[in-house]
Amino acid sequence: MLLEHRFICPLINGIHARPASLLEEVARGFAARIELTNEKNRRQADCKSVLSIVSADIRHGDSCRLQIAGQDAPAALARLTAFLEQTLPHCETAAPAPRVPDEPLLPPALDQTHWHYLKGVPTVAGIACGELHLIDGQPVIPPVALLPAAEPGREWQRAEQSLEKLIGYFDEQIAHTSQPTVLEMLHAHRSLARDPALRRQLEASIVSGGNSLAAAIDQAREFFTGTLTASSNTTLRERALDVQDVCQQLYVQAYGPGLATKAPAWSKPVIVVANQLTPGQFLALDKKHLKGLVLGHAGATSHTVILARSFGIPTLVGVATGEARLAAGLAAVLDAEAGLLLLDPPMAAQRYYALELARLADRENHINHTSQAPGTIQTGARFELAANAASTEEAERAFALGAESIGLFRSEMLFLDQPSPPDETAQLQIYQRLLKTAGGRMVIIRTLDAGGDKPLPYLHLPAEENPALGYRAIRIYREFETLFRTQLRALLRASASGPLRIMIPMVTTSDEARWVKNIFQEEKAHLSATGLPFNPATQLGAMIEVPAAAYALPVLGQEFDFFSIGSNDLLQYFAATDRADARLAHLYTPTNPAFLQLLKNIVDQAHAQQKWIGLCGEMAGQIRCLPLLLGLGLDEISVSANVLRDLKMELAAWQLAESRQLLLTALGCPSSRAVEALLAQPADRTPLALLTPDLVLLDAVAADKFEAIKLATDRLFVLGRTQQPRALERAVWEREQIGSTGFGHAFAIPHGKSGALRSNSLVLVKFKTPVAWDSLDGEPVKIMILVAIREADAHTQHMSILAKLARRVMDETFREELQQAADGTTICDYVNACIGASPRVRPAAAAAPSLREL
Ligand code: PEP
Ligand code: MG
Repeated sequence: MLLEHRFICPLINGIHARPASLLEEVARGFAARIELTNEKNRRQADCKSVLSIVSADIRHGDSCRLQIAGQDAPAALARLTAFLEQTLPHCETAAPAPRVPDEPLLPPALDQTHWHYLKGVPTVAGIACGELHLIDGQPVIPPVALLPAAEPGREWQRAEQSLEKLIGYFDEQIAHTSQPTVLEMLHAHRSLARDPALRRQLEASIVSGGNSLAAAIDQAREFFTGTLTASSNTTLRERALDVQDVCQQLYVQAYGPGLATKAPAWSKPVIVVANQLTPGQFLALDKKHLKGLVLGHAGATSHTVILARSFGIPTLVGVATGEARLAAGLAAVLDAEAGLLLLDPPMAAQRYYALELARLADRENHINHTSQAPGTIQTGARFELAANAASTEEAERAFALGAESIGLFRSEMLFLDQPSPPDETAQLQIYQRLLKTAGGRMVIIRTLDAGGDKPLPYLHLPAEENPALGYRAIRIYREFETLFRTQLRALLRASASGPLRIMIPMVTTSDEARWVKNIFQEEKAHLSATGLPFNPATQLGAMIEVPAAAYALPVLGQEFDFFSIGSNDLLQYFAATDRADARLAHLYTPTNPAFLQLLKNIVDQAHAQQKWIGLCGEMAGQIRCLPLLLGLGLDEISVSANVLRDLKMELAAWQLAESRQLLLTALGCPSSRAVEALLAQPADRTPLALLTPDLVLLDAVAADKFEAIKLATDRLFVLGRTQQPRALERAVWEREQIGSTGFGHAFAIPHGKSGALRSNSLVLVKFKTPVAWDSLDGEPVKIMILVAIREADAHTQHMSILAKLARRVMDETFREELQQAADGTTICDYVNACIGASPRVRPAAAAAPSLREL
């Protein structure tokens, strides 16, 4: 039996080693022969060989054909189709495009300092200080074993044993690793180790060529790295290091641990410089002391860089590493903002960068603090940010990242990859563990969304012409009523362990709604009769992901207690656009004004019935869409855990009135492109308060004027008022160099204008020890008020704010009050009142109203 399936490659970086290894893992579960053809370049690949898949050079948008032959071809087709549609589009570790800084923006404090530096391309952001350590990334080949093999048959046996040992080694590493990026890399390397193409190459070299195993590995390494390096695709070229890594590990398995990469022992912070470094060599390094990485050759998608990013190690690539050799063992600073490696920096630079590290740590603490607090908009009103999860582990991670609840638990993941469905007890245990992890926070569990494009082999559902429009989710519940009732019972019983809501996928009509509700009531009655504990007030909700349901909310509301919009499916059905088809990406846009209108109608209808409504599709995690969702008046959004922190920070910058206005403007736009342009514009937002208590620094320590100004601009960065503190610092210094801003009376008012500022701001700093400032009266400065004005407001605000402050500083009472005041809020209120700025008081979080109350 020969079956076929066509698909378009959805991955921006094409099918490289990691996605290829996932595909290989699915394919090797079947006996069928599975061949993949890239219809663009006509290259064919064996789906059970990663090297062969990778060599097919499949790029974003390439049209591909799978051909499956053999007894288990139908099951293989179902599993592979599900993989290509559900998993493949999401298995890209997006690497931000490296930003090559034009001219490095050097700190003003160091303008007069002479220093030596090398330039590079920042690929992982951050700053590192440490001792420079050189690593030679060359493979170690056992020289003696390169002699021809005396007995090729035995040598091949030894090769097979070494390959088995290598696979076992990766199995063990996988079993003991929980870090997702490392796991992905290990899976990719294990797939390479069991690759039939590698095996064939070794066999031919040993058996036909009479080579020793070491020589055969060396030849295979040359052959495969040569093929990959010759590719015009950067991502594929970067896979050569993976092959090198696996070959090195194979040497180790065959010739002993003497060839293994020896991790250098460090006792202090280190910046590693290497021309190239394999992922395995990187993993072997001591991460406690590894603070920065400098590579000669590597791209943003190389596994070594991806791993460095996942460990948060600031990284520069494209550095002339040869020049760093002379500085080995000396102190160095890696500045991945400016793209510099400073060699043997002078004391002033070391001190400056110590403050830079403190700035980044303060920002991280601030973000952590914000992410653990409930989601609030600028005025302090609450907006619930939930997370999507498919396992207890994912939920746990989401809570750690600040999720307030789980807005969508995709329960079908418990049913996949099993010979039969989990029974009531097994499900109950999983749900109870999940609720325990949630620790009293709400969890919305969606009932089984299987069938159609998410096949479960044991249901034996026939293949369909149009799976997305087919027999799936609630639609299969009548046929598999026992399965559905079992899940409902397990969920209801779990409800005794913590807050839980049950949500039904793909509801389309009121008939379906009534049928589900009846079963739900019957199961509740059944549980009551048996005396098993459950929460009788457990709510039943519906996903709104079919356009027909979007227009039936009043009748659906008679059966369901709440709703959540599944924007992924809703958009695919509304725009008649397959959500996984890369060729149609221009139609699959949640910013289509017609779709926004549909969302608005849904939310308005739900609220007209006093029903709670959230949104849990991918759109919710797209940060640019946040003000639109806020403007819609949703009660919650549920997103992938990775974006929670950024989303909370962005949320805190918005006000309800602005987001409603933005939505209204978007609804009036003629096209999605126009809405995207609207969202890309710098928002016309209500300015933040000029001075807030967290912009008042008491008992501050600064060695000189440079540090004093840096303290203030860094504070604006920590609070998210600027993303470019160095540009702002330089702008303030441009003014300072014209003439000292030391005002006399121990006051200074440094000031600057910058395009890199979110809102006009004051930072008031009271120094513990006065700072020399070249003031008019020669007195050192005890109080500094930094005035930072947006470039756009330079003409209207700059002079007026400065003049008001200057007048006040001339007034002795003002000076006295500030000298006496000992807390930020008093100082902030006093200054705002004196200069006539409007204070913005945020209500305490516990008392904050939710958006619906406003
Ligand atoms: C949706 O359709 O938006 C949704 C969240 O469900 P899924 O992506 O699992 O189909
Ligand atoms: Mg859906």
